[in-house]
Amino acid sequence: MPITIPSRKTVIQDIKNRGGMVAAVLPIHYPRALLRAFEIFPVEVWGPPRVDVSLGSAHLQSYVCSIVQNSLSFIKMGELDFASLILIPHTCDSLQGLTSVLMDLVKPRPPLFSLYLPRGQREEGVVFLAAELRSLYAGLSELTGRKPTDAELLAAIEREELSDHLLARLYAQRLTLGLGNLDFYRLLRSREYLPAEDFAALAESALQTQVAPQSGTPLMLSGILPEPMAVLDVIEKVNGLVVADDLACCGRRLYQPGLSAEPFRRMAESLISAPPDPTRGNPISERVQYLTDMAAKSGARGVLFYDVKFCEPELFDLPELRRALKEQGLASLNIEVDINNPLPHQTATRIGAFLEMLNH
Ligand code: SF4
Repeated sequence: MPITIPSRKTVIQDIKNRGGMVAAVLPIHYPRALLRAFEIFPVEVWGPPRVDVSLGSAHLQSYVCSIVQNSLSFIKMGELDFASLILIPHTCDSLQGLTSVLMDLVKPRPPLFSLYLPRGQREEGVVFLAAELRSLYAGLSELTGRKPTDAELLAAIEREELSDHLLARLYAQRLTLGLGNLDFYRLLRSREYLPAEDFAALAESALQTQVAPQSGTPLMLSGILPEPMAVLDVIEKVNGLVVADDLACCGRRLYQPGLSAEPFRRMAESLISAPPDPTRGNPISERVQYLTDMAAKSGARGVLFYDVKFCEPELFDLPELRRALKEQGLASLNIEVDINNPLPHQTATRIGAFLEMLNH
């Protein structure tokens, strides 16, 4: 059954028509449930692609990634004026730099909130993050005049946990859903802006379809995001099949449910449970283990590191990560893109040659 996914614009308009508040949220990890407990709907901003970057580039060095360049331009163009607030997690130095530029130089703009994420996956990190979430709660209370109770917070948490569970089921059944590479990732990425209950309804409808498994050369995608999304069609045209991913916008946000009955701790436990991620300082050895396990489970024969140009957290890990994967028998290809540019013809040729090599 074909799945109709509403556009970001439609969803935002719909929320506004119902008198709802929208938070524009930058990558990567943040507490969706906390925002929803305040009846604020998160809509993520990953760039977006194909924006006139001249407004942003006036404030940023030319070697800052296109996600940050585009976001700043987008904000300066007034394209986020619909939002009641902007939330910027401290994902990397470039996003922290964006926060400083916005605070000092861009006014008027929606109120700005930031969120610090702990490194690694230790108990101290859970305690630290729970405290950060309490402080965000205080800020949102001041902005909205609301004070959600623990019961309201827990209800919002359970709603997001259900969506996360359905996201994991989509991954588990991806080859029998009858969706091509592009349609599958369109569905996954609707989690970036759909309210959790709407995403859950879409996911449940997609999960009802079961067809014979697709075929093609099995490939894993890693990196930040599949933009331009034409890359997914390109992979399909050269008979590649994406069977797993380690993308920041998708697979790196397969959160486990938290265990605690205390809402802030439970949100922190869940966020910290995400797979290894260079922006959260997981050691390369953990990433190697995670990627080789995922390749073994999914049958992926190689990894396509599809990176945003100038993304420091990704690029720092890459040489050692690729070397270690090669030692484990997992070949890889690295392609860097600027999310504003159309996919160069040469990219298709390189992906085709890589898949050809994996087949021999
Ligand atoms: S692409 Fe990389 S450098 Fe840019 S915002 Fe994302 S994590 Fe930071």
